Amino acid sequence: MGPEVACCPLCGSDRNVPFDRRLFMNVPVNNRLCESCGLVFQSPRLSKAEADEFHRTQYRRIHQVGNASIDPREIAIQRARADCMLALFSKTVAHVSSHLDIGCSAGLLMQAFAKAYSCKTTGLELDNLYRSYALQQGLQVFETLEALPQPGRFDVISMSHVLEHIPEPVEFLKRLRQDFLEPAGWLFLEVPNLYAHDCFEPGHLISFSSHTLAQVLQQAGFRVIRSVHHGLPRSKIVPLYLNVLTQPGGEEGGPVKRESMVLPRRKIGRGLRRLAEYFFPAAAKLSIIE
Ligand SMILES: [Zn+2]
Repeated sequence: MGPEVACCPLCGSDRNVPFDRRLFMNVPVNNRLCESCGLVFQSPRLSKAEADEFHRTQYRRIHQVGNASIDPREIAIQRARADCMLALFSKTVAHVSSHLDIGCSAGLLMQAFAKAYSCKTTGLELDNLYRSYALQQGLQVFETLEALPQPGRFDVISMSHVLEHIPEPVEFLKRLRQDFLEPAGWLFLEVPNLYAHDCFEPGHLISFSSHTLAQVLQQAGFRVIRSVHHGLPRSKIVPLYLNVLTQPGGEEGGPVKRESMVLPRRKIGRGLRRLAEYFFPAAAKLSIIE
């Protein structure tokens, strides 16, 4: 296991306490709670090199239980998620000319954007297997931001289930805003919801609530235009995910607003999820694959 995280990735405080400790497929996962702002983050966590290697080679495989080839069921899940994401995005934004999807995996969200908006779409994916698959579909996909041929600017940047994997989210988002996003562009994000999702696994370095996610975005110079809790495509009634549409603006930096009662909120959210799954199983747990 890699280094301890000395300072909170949101507010920089060094005051934190244990929050959750477990084994995930025999990998220890320890999460801590920042006493200053309420952010839940993993510490110790994989080093950058270990995390890059983990995402390059292991991440999808863990979720596919050891299968080292592309699983059609995973593609079906990604397609269902992409359709849900596009439905949320297109409620607000009518025109897109250039789209960058960071962590594009097999490229399903890219395809959905290209179809809906007839826009140019570019993807970034660290995982070799999925990047190759997306390239085979004729999509333009690179490994990292640095590998983009002409950096340029995009009018939409999306990150579906990516921000929770990034060690320094404020710096990363700031860089996107300063170097890659049009000044009036859109940043479209989805992450697991700490108050409903199981969420503690080796690759999840940060577990967001809607409060801490909004604080991270504000620190990076984004203002939230629309924030939605939802569970699709996995659940009609359990708010497993936080989906946020943002634009550059507002006041970058400034004091971070603290979230209190994080542990009780998580217990209540997880309890409500169990009740929903018990009393309304069909709506609480959707079968994505027919
Ligand atoms: Zn903090």
